[in-house]
Amino acid sequence: MDDIVQYLQARQEEMVVLLRELVLIESPSNQPELTAQMGDYLEKTVQEMTRATVTRLPSDDYSPHLKAEWGEGDDQLLIVTHFDTVWPEGTLEEMPFKIEDGKAYGPGTFDMKAGIVQALFALQAIESINQSFDKKIVLLMTSDEELGSPTSKPYIEAEAAKSDAVFVLEPSQGEHGALKTARKGVGTYDITIHGVSSHAGIEPEKGASAIEELAEQITYLSNLTDLDKGTTVNVGMIDGGSSKNVIAEEAHAVVDVRVQTEEEMKRVAPLIESIQPENDDTRVDVKGEIYRPPLEKTDGIEVLFERAQALAKQYLSIDLEEESTGGGSDANFTAALSPTLDGLGAVGDGAHAHHEHVVIEQMPKRSALLAMLLCEYGQSS
Ligand SMILES: [Zn+2]
Repeated sequence: MDDIVQYLQARQEEMVVLLRELVLIESPSNQPELTAQMGDYLEKTVQEMTRATVTRLPSDDYSPHLKAEWGEGDDQLLIVTHFDTVWPEGTLEEMPFKIEDGKAYGPGTFDMKAGIVQALFALQAIESINQSFDKKIVLLMTSDEELGSPTSKPYIEAEAAKSDAVFVLEPSQGEHGALKTARKGVGTYDITIHGVSSHAGIEPEKGASAIEELAEQITYLSNLTDLDKGTTVNVGMIDGGSSKNVIAEEAHAVVDVRVQTEEEMKRVAPLIESIQPENDDTRVDVKGEIYRPPLEKTDGIEVLFERAQALAKQYLSIDLEEESTGGGSDANFTAALSPTLDGLGAVGDGAHAHHEHVVIEQMPKRSALLAMLLCEYGQSS
């Protein structure tokens, strides 16, 4: 293992060079022509750096996802990354790539272009020491994670189901780079109320206010929150009505739902999906779902985490911690299918925020941690 650590420590500058290249190609999820450029660049890079076989996985609405493979065999290990970001085109003008005090700043650095860099160098390190594997290694690089992985989800689930372990290179948490061993499930609901419009001054009795009905439903929804159980139902956006003297014909709300356990998911989802109007003259339409199930810490996750902790301590002198988070990731999908370790990506701060950055000296270390996990789990025992 020491040779992996040394190999990667010597590549810190190359890692920063590649990170800069990746950040300079802006890749907002909803602009497929841009994420496609990012995918092309990554396809070329992974083939220059390693002996991977790369396949493009078609996406109906977004740019193709990439699947890189090393070795062969029926058993496999899976690494999950995404190359889209939440930052719109042009962000680099206000938020340029820069290095200050040992940190690399820029859109997508932390979430999760540095994670991709770390994965590619980890695989290069493994090839350089001629480590042999009994298992195939599959690296997925997807283009729509920040949208909830609408088109990459089936690919991720299919690969996870075939894998003995899954490593997700989402950012780590906190200044010490804790891994994420539990994540909340995430849902979005669009609620539309259809009322009956009428003149509020002349014949108010003929109307049925969609806004009043929505107010009732907001109270109902908010009461589904149970902080002790880790469940939140947040009506985050509302709109409705057409004029102050018209009884509102339509009103609309967008609701964010987070659940910590499957039990809570099963309690809350039907209560939202079967909403009935208080006022029978109005109608309620509910669209949406809990699209990412909660990632609950299993025994398999515990074993993976303890192994990572031991490797980090022995070879990197890092005291690895674990945390849970309210944010979702592709780990929510994979954990239901195979033991999953998430937050294995960069150490830094500011995902989706203007101070987004990674700590440069941690990049080779985190890359080495992934490489060591692959070496350990790549042998059938
Ligand atoms: Zn991410």
